[in-house]
Amino acid sequence: MTALDPQTLLTLNVVNLLALAILLPFIMGQKLSSAAQAARRSLIVHSGAWIAVILSELWPTNWWLNISLSTVSMICYSSCNWLLYQALTNWLGERPFRRPLIVLAIVMPIGYFLFFDTYAWRVGWANLLIAIQVAILANATLRPKTRLVGPWRYVLCLCLGSMSVFTLARGVLGFFFEPLYPNFAAPHPINLISLVIANITMVLGSVSVLVAWREEAELQLRDLTVIDPLTGLLNRRGWSEQATPAFSSSLRHQLPLALLALDLDFFKRINDERGHEAGDAALRLFGEVLRQQARTGDVLARMGGEEFCVLLPLTDAEAAKAFEARIRTTLEEAAVARLGFSFSYSAGLTHRSADDRDLEKLQLRADEALYLAKSEGRARLVER
Ligand code: GH3
Ligand code: MG
Ligand code: MG
Repeated sequence: MTALDPQTLLTLNVVNLLALAILLPFIMGQKLSSAAQAARRSLIVHSGAWIAVILSELWPTNWWLNISLSTVSMICYSSCNWLLYQALTNWLGERPFRRPLIVLAIVMPIGYFLFFDTYAWRVGWANLLIAIQVAILANATLRPKTRLVGPWRYVLCLCLGSMSVFTLARGVLGFFFEPLYPNFAAPHPINLISLVIANITMVLGSVSVLVAWREEAELQLRDLTVIDPLTGLLNRRGWSEQATPAFSSSLRHQLPLALLALDLDFFKRINDERGHEAGDAALRLFGEVLRQQARTGDVLARMGGEEFCVLLPLTDAEAAKAFEARIRTTLEEAAVARLGFSFSYSAGLTHRSADDRDLEKLQLRADEALYLAKSEGRARLVER
């Protein structure tokens, strides 16, 4: 341990961070997702934090330049944690403790500045609050359930978790045992381990960011194959991927399942009379209304043209009819308000019965009901 020199570790950390911050854009190219962009900025600001702290050492502790640069360093530290949180939010969906993190990010540099004259308080305060910030980040990599599922999250969590623990330890050291940790380059084992972990975190953190970014790109490519770009609903392929297991599960557990087939009425006329753009807008609005009324677990798809399908798990006849009625009234209001004209649809509704062995049988029956709705005058629901 004595062979490790904190000043060297620190310098290496800063040089590496800076090299990464400068070169990562070249590696990643121009087309960055907002998550990858936030992660990259976090890295740049992180190296800024270290540079400020090293520069501050050029002046005696109580000089205003030292105080300002040290405080700037803490502002950078808060900002880089916040940027990483944003990257995680973009990649993984809403993350917990957003507000506490914002509060911590703001009060940490303020307290640091106010406590500047008292070493123990300044170091104890800053490290404690940074440790909590980093713990929030570590937690954010895993929970709640995430959209990206790659193991890079565990690596990042491990790095951030240990960073948090050792930052806290550094704070305790500075607050209670000032002589053992008189400055950030002190050769105390806890500080040495912290610096080594900071180096590991930088390397593994950057790798994790690159892998997360790749997983995101893969997911986007996959989305392209199962999602209809106009409405954002599933396409026919996405439908079979999601509706088939939902059907099997309903069959296995003997739970109710409803299927709704929908087709816009006289849609050709909308295109002919108002133009293809208006037709597209109507399709988008219809998709939006479906999404707005659906519950988690419902499967929504645009099967082609102006035909849609909705699978409603755990939904009995009454609830399915209520769902359809909500779509009809919402659509009526929304179409006039948003498009300036109204349009209707016909619907066929059916339910899984004891002798339905596959989804296709259900779909066929819903289509028959839809056909009846059309022939009976459109703008209605027929149940079979
Ligand atoms: P019906 O009430 O019997 O369903 O009449 P309809 O006019 O809705 O049915 P039809 O199947 O004859 O016409 C469907 C029209 O939908 C024809 C096609 O031009 C239009 N369509 C299909 N896909 C799109 C699309 O992506 N955008 C637009 N604007 N129109 C589309
Ligand atoms: Mg139609
Ligand atoms: Mg049609």
